[in-house]
Amino acid sequence: MIYQRSSALFAEAKKYIPGGVNSPVRAFKAVGGDPIFVKKAKGAYLYDEDGNKLIDYIASWGPLILGHAYGPVIDAVIDKARKGTSFGMPTEIETKLAKLAISMVPNMDKIRFVNSGTEACMSAVRLARGYTGKDKIIKFAGCYHGHSDSFLIEAGSGAVTFGSPNSPGVTQGTAKDTLLATYNDLKDVETLVEANKGEIAAIIIEPIAGNMGCIVPSDSFMKGLRKLCTKESVLLIFDEVMTGFRLARGGAQEVLNIKADIVTYGKVIGGGLPVGAFAAKAEIMDYLAPDGPVYQAGTLSGNPLAMSAGLAMLTALNNNPEVFQSLADKTEYLHKGIAEVLTEKGVAHQINRFGSMISVHFTDNPVIDFASSAKGDNETFKTYFHGMLDKGIYLPPSAFESYFLNDALSYADLDTTVAALKQIKF
Ligand SMILES: *Cc1c(COP(=O)(O)O)cnc(C)c1O
Repeated sequence: MIYQRSSALFAEAKKYIPGGVNSPVRAFKAVGGDPIFVKKAKGAYLYDEDGNKLIDYIASWGPLILGHAYGPVIDAVIDKARKGTSFGMPTEIETKLAKLAISMVPNMDKIRFVNSGTEACMSAVRLARGYTGKDKIIKFAGCYHGHSDSFLIEAGSGAVTFGSPNSPGVTQGTAKDTLLATYNDLKDVETLVEANKGEIAAIIIEPIAGNMGCIVPSDSFMKGLRKLCTKESVLLIFDEVMTGFRLARGGAQEVLNIKADIVTYGKVIGGGLPVGAFAAKAEIMDYLAPDGPVYQAGTLSGNPLAMSAGLAMLTALNNNPEVFQSLADKTEYLHKGIAEVLTEKGVAHQINRFGSMISVHFTDNPVIDFASSAKGDNETFKTYFHGMLDKGIYLPPSAFESYFLNDALSYADLDTTVAALKQIKF
């Protein structure tokens, strides 16, 4: 396929926008080449500026679980837009979405809406610190919780000492309050908690990780984390920005049968408009302003267009919960198809999958944490990525990203995808 106009648009964008993009992973740095510029999309397909039709496995990085330009969402947004786009005053639809979201997920009394997953995670940590009166947090290497300072941290010199900034602009002062642990390694977390006894406000985790490929936690790891948090009065924050309303109505809390203390949402909850949210029991949420002392605000938070998109999306999922199984079935079918071809070609690989999240890693070793994910062969990944793109299959342009299947994908699309893989020379 030819991507000439995309390349020209990218060159123009680079003159005025840093790197030509408004979010770095879009720039294809990990795979090389120029990014594709989209003109429009419908269902499972992207239509780019060169007139190519692509089968999409990203779905805007997760939000569009029912496919692009989903009718009820589009209608709801158009209808709302005619009545005004923002008021900075309360509207009934905020309560409607809050009530529906809380009814779908386990264990939560109240929810607050923000504008992105980043904001949700940032606010959840502030709330946890305010509520517990403690400063430190533990995060896991390879988990992504948005780009707020506290999360842009890498391992420091010793595992039990504090982390270091992994971006210029993050201060050492901020980094010292974020401790880094290894995913799926309960002992590591226990050691950190022991070495910082009484100082840890929260442990934040992607309950099914999706930002180092798709990584599933072991049952004993998750149960152990929950126990440890309860014992040490540490709040367990589930970052369900990716998994919320994707794996099940009740997200990872439901499928793993673990109750978190604070849960963050994003992506699907906004149906493709900018929405994030965080939720907890009333006792914790009432610590937020204006009822409580922890400050948090937003000019466009609870925006009517965003709320109408979220309400249409969650209503559709709530009324049709079979969709989660349908997605999981399609993902399993794709898994089998890809595994068969790669095995036949003798390409070393691991495929991780949970529900509608899946990732392909070019390595012999099981991928269970960031270090094992980073061992994947990036040259093979590049061949795979560009080979698929050349045949009109749009995969995430980084080996560290999960694919997000959307229910508009047909079995014929999945067959086309596997057939494309067959043609690639590794
Ligand atoms: C996408 C993502 C975020 C950040 O959300 P944004 O809306 O991009 O700010 C946070 N956590 C997880 C798990 C995510 O996948």
